[in-house]
Amino acid sequence: MALLGVDIGGTKIAVGIADDQGNLLDQDRFMVATTGSPGQALDRVAEMARALSARRQDPLRHIGIGSPGPFHDGTLDNPANLPGWHGVDLARSLSQRLGCPATLQNDATAAAIGEWMFGRGQHTQHLAYITVSTGVGAGFVLNGQPYGGPHGNAAEIGHIVLDPNGPQCNCGLTGCLESMASGTAMGRVGNQRRSESAYLSAEITAGTVIRAEDVIAGWHNGDAVCTEMVDDVARHLGHGLGILVNLVNPQRIVLGGGVMHAGEPLLEKIRHWTAVYSMPTLYRETELTLSGLGADTGLVGAVAVAMVGRRG
Ligand SMILES: [Zn+2]
Repeated sequence: MALLGVDIGGTKIAVGIADDQGNLLDQDRFMVATTGSPGQALDRVAEMARALSARRQDPLRHIGIGSPGPFHDGTLDNPANLPGWHGVDLARSLSQRLGCPATLQNDATAAAIGEWMFGRGQHTQHLAYITVSTGVGAGFVLNGQPYGGPHGNAAEIGHIVLDPNGPQCNCGLTGCLESMASGTAMGRVGNQRRSESAYLSAEITAGTVIRAEDVIAGWHNGDAVCTEMVDDVARHLGHGLGILVNLVNPQRIVLGGGVMHAGEPLLEKIRHWTAVYSMPTLYRETELTLSGLGADTGLVGAVAVAMVGRRG
């Protein structure tokens, strides 16, 4: 019997089939913009799932879904990244279409479960996964169980207010971690400080919008202004993670997402600031590491959700 993982994102939806051990065997994906209503998108997911299952001659046993939230009683509750999907019950809709049980988790919790079962979170009981990408999100596995709170919306580390006088955040608050340390924030500051930076003003064609990758490239090139911007991001992330270390004291914090492709040198800066902003005893008990799942994190996470869901 096969497991199905469904990784729902604002831009694309990936569907993957896995064996009983959670090994991803085959996958397919489509762009959300190429479908009309949520119902049509879910029809397409079901079609792909049937095709994958038929190709492997293996019926589906359980569906795991990772999706951006927030949720209320299992339905999407005005999700910022999925406009038009308010009120959709993803687990029920896919379960009905495919005739097997389905389990839903928010995407960051799904990634945390994926890292816990198959990635860098293995052999831990208390794990936090942090994604630093367009936004900043987190997911928890605590006491060997996924933790999402009553509706699956817990772990919103990106919207901890670090500076009440800071930039406006998409969530309505000001000075959230996400508004200062996401890839989006890096790009915004890069554009604001472009003329100060020798690298950004010389290497990036005038009129092109600066992205986080450009700031990171400038840092790797030794540009002083880009280095300052990366240091600021590391300090803000360390501030947020310091709070997390003091509150939750996870054994391991796994960091993933596009910005973390900057790798070990960025992680080293984040470790430095996390130590500054947390209690020494607790920090010593927490290991910070990079994600081990790469581009398939979302899908592996969704499959891991199916494995946990199957156990009931
Ligand atoms: Zn916010």
